[in-house]
Amino acid sequence: MKPKIAVSACLLGHLCKYNGGHNLDSELVKSLQGYEVIPVCPEELGGLSTPRIPSEIQSDGHTVLDQTGKDVTAFFERGKHRTLAILREQGCDKIILKDGSPSCGYTWIYDGTFSRSRIRGEGVTAQYLRQNGVSIIDRLEEGEL
Ligand code: SF4
Repeated sequence: MKPKIAVSACLLGHLCKYNGGHNLDSELVKSLQGYEVIPVCPEELGGLSTPRIPSEIQSDGHTVLDQTGKDVTAFFERGKHRTLAILREQGCDKIILKDGSPSCGYTWIYDGTFSRSRIRGEGVTAQYLRQNGVSIIDRLEEGEL
């Protein structure tokens, strides 16, 4: 049986990015041969549509607003719960995430001001998965999974 690894779906070329595009990482896809890959997009799982207005976590570290000022925290919360539920159902405890996203970011996110300013921090789903024992794999540092 192949080992399982979950991956942010946009890194695999799925058209789930906020602007309707993807973040395909061909090197990553190549490195995943031999693994059973479980694609997840927490924002779509949370009920947000694609394309969607970009969102950022606010300075309170919890509230997520989209660029029009609408509170979308509930979608992000639903997305994190559904993502963990999928990993649990699949018996998968490892994930590769797209950094910088308000859901999937695992070393940095934007600062909540929509000015493209980066800060150290985690997205809503990344934090929740880590707190629940899921290993977030940084393929660049580890070389292999
Ligand atoms: Fe990619 Fe995650 Fe954003 Fe979905 S929520 S588009 S998987 S970075």
